[in-house]
Amino acid sequence: MTALIDAVHRTRGGWRIPDQNLWTGEVEEHALAFAFDPAAGALFLTYENPRPADWERGLLWLRHGQDRSGAYKWRAINTPRTRRMMNEHLCMVCSGSCRQKKDGRTTWLFVDDPPTTPDGTPITNLPPTCPDCVPESLATCPRLSERARLVTVAKTRPFAVTADLYEPAEGFPAPAVKVRHEIHIPYGPETAYWLRFALGKQPWLALDDVRDQPKGRLRRQTPAPREETAVGRHEDANSPTEKEVTGKEGGTGSTNDQQQKPQGDHADGKGKGK
Ligand SMILES: [Zn+2]
Repeated sequence: MTALIDAVHRTRGGWRIPDQNLWTGEVEEHALAFAFDPAAGALFLTYENPRPADWERGLLWLRHGQDRSGAYKWRAINTPRTRRMMNEHLCMVCSGSCRQKKDGRTTWLFVDDPPTTPDGTPITNLPPTCPDCVPESLATCPRLSERARLVTVAKTRPFAVTADLYEPAEGFPAPAVKVRHEIHIPYGPETAYWLRFALGKQPWLALDDVRDQPKGRLRRQTPAPREETAVGRHEDANSPTEKEVTGKEGGTGSTNDQQQKPQGDHADGKGKGK
């Protein structure tokens, strides 16, 4: 059974589809609304059928299913899987731990250098990649194989979120109307107010004590000889847009582009960052 699941989660070229990727069958539609928080004396964005797991860091997060049905999307991420990968330092390809046993540091793979904050702290919206998956990641992305930077990181801190912003409309409960698409909101006292109006789609982490790994660890790999199946088909860039696929509130996951700068809209998707 494991072999079957493994086979259907490969592309036509024989590569594994990273666990971080979103599948069209995982897109869910849930109505959003504004509710009143008596303790704060203010409105906040919520699902009409809220669950405790919808919130993290005072922020409502986009829901996705977890069954990997439909077609996989190279340029969109599954938000709940990504949150877990970022929080627990799990590999974006295989969901395995990226913490090294010998020193507890986490391996991370970038194209070029990660973006930085004004004070020079590296930040990323990509989960880490485990050493076992680095050769395959390099082989699937020419851009990455030429400009890869493999590092280890001592610690991470939640830094920001890519989120859609909503406003309450007339009515009770107040319907939620989307007013900004995929903006970058750093965490902090000056932005805490806006998190009440936000639907989180992709977390950003600040990386502490980034150290380069030897270039010798950047080996490429040849793909496993697998046939594409009906399940493991790819929804390419000519397929319906994310909005068409997803429906009204929140849409799919964010695009997955590690070169994305942390300002402005987040939907220009230049391709998967690996
Ligand atoms: Zn891995």
